[in-house]
Amino acid sequence: VGSRTVADIRLDFPAFTQTSGGLAPAYLDSAATSQRPRAVLDAEREYLEHHLAPVHRGASAAVGLSTTLFEDARAEVARFVGAGDREVVWTENATDAINMVTLGIADANAGLGGADAARFALGPDDEIVLTEAEHHANLIPWQRLAAKTGARLRPIPVDEHGLWSIDDAAAAVSERTRIVAFAEVSNVTGYLAPVADMVELAHRHGALVLLDACQSVPHRPVDFGAMGVDFAAFSGHKMLGPNGIGVLYGRAELLDALPPARTGGSTITKVTMGTAEFLPAPHRFEAGTQPVSQVVALAEAVRYLDAIGMQEVARHEAAFAERVVEGVAAIPGVRIVGPQPGAPRAGLVSVGVDGVHAHDVGQFLDEAGVVVRVGHHCAQPLHRALGLTATTRASAHVYTTAEEADRFVEALAGVRRFFGVEQGVTA
Ligand code: PMP
Repeated sequence: VGSRTVADIRLDFPAFTQTSGGLAPAYLDSAATSQRPRAVLDAEREYLEHHLAPVHRGASAAVGLSTTLFEDARAEVARFVGAGDREVVWTENATDAINMVTLGIADANAGLGGADAARFALGPDDEIVLTEAEHHANLIPWQRLAAKTGARLRPIPVDEHGLWSIDDAAAAVSERTRIVAFAEVSNVTGYLAPVADMVELAHRHGALVLLDACQSVPHRPVDFGAMGVDFAAFSGHKMLGPNGIGVLYGRAELLDALPPARTGGSTITKVTMGTAEFLPAPHRFEAGTQPVSQVVALAEAVRYLDAIGMQEVARHEAAFAERVVEGVAAIPGVRIVGPQPGAPRAGLVSVGVDGVHAHDVGQFLDEAGVVVRVGHHCAQPLHRALGLTATTRASAHVYTTAEEADRFVEALAGVRRFFGVEQGVTA
């Protein structure tokens, strides 16, 4: 990966160096949660051992230092995704970040946030366009918002492989569209969305774009500013960072106008018994005591990824996916979901095995020492469109080896024989 070998990179990850004898399991579930390098674990520990103090409250030197670490981390993460410092809001995870937007819009509908927020308000003539491939985190919050405001959801349908195109999107977007929400990379199909065309399409119709960047920020170069998206969301735990920390990106002028869904301490300028005035972004959204150690460690994860280079990370993972797709394509009775062999895709591959439920596949692979994700991957509408209830997904990160890709393919090749569903056996 770039100037380093995978074997060398793996030495940075305690999870791969603690062997209890025998072959360590192949961890192919990084799209769900990635492993963390020692530098990230150390950064969190270092903060907790030496610098733990509140942020933005009090006048002590300790608070000052803790606040500096917290805000420097924000600047580091902002730079990593092409955002301004005020455009990165800390949230619990990506799910929380998307809810921050939908709940904020619901507040705007209720008249909160005054004239500035009125631009977000939705009505029965308005539509929210989103793809049928979305993770539930980028679907259910919009469903709730639609139910509260009378706006309608307008899906962009997927084809038999779970794919959609800019033409499908153009058929769904109209003058009624107020918001277009979609994932840059699908967590099931590995499809790479046509982001630039989508932004152009949405903006041409006066709609805002929310990008679910959960599967892109951890794996490829991302520049929200250059992309021109209005909002974006991602999670720390998928990018070699900690759990319990996510990011809402928003263009500063939008964040300054969006009502804060969660209110409380640290978000305000002036409070009376009847009223509250809120700070500008990002602090208007960060109510209550913040997860400072996670924030500091996330900045370390960003430095770690930067040192390798996101272009190199993307290249490494694309090679993993290509190897898996090539191997799987040769296995009878196993169907590749998403882009078909030869087409570009991100570093994850989901498959359906004819005649065997994905949970049985997962258990079989687990016994073969291969850790994968099975189920609907929080994308039930997508699976319904595929005609599958569940799939099996292998996904990579910087530490994933070609040998692990091969182990997945080899184990998968034995599944149907094991369950007695190979042609001729069940006939
Ligand atoms: N969107 C996508 C595309 C995802 O892959 C995930 C995580 N599986 C999420 C949203 C939700 O992320 P989190 O659970 O960290 O909030």
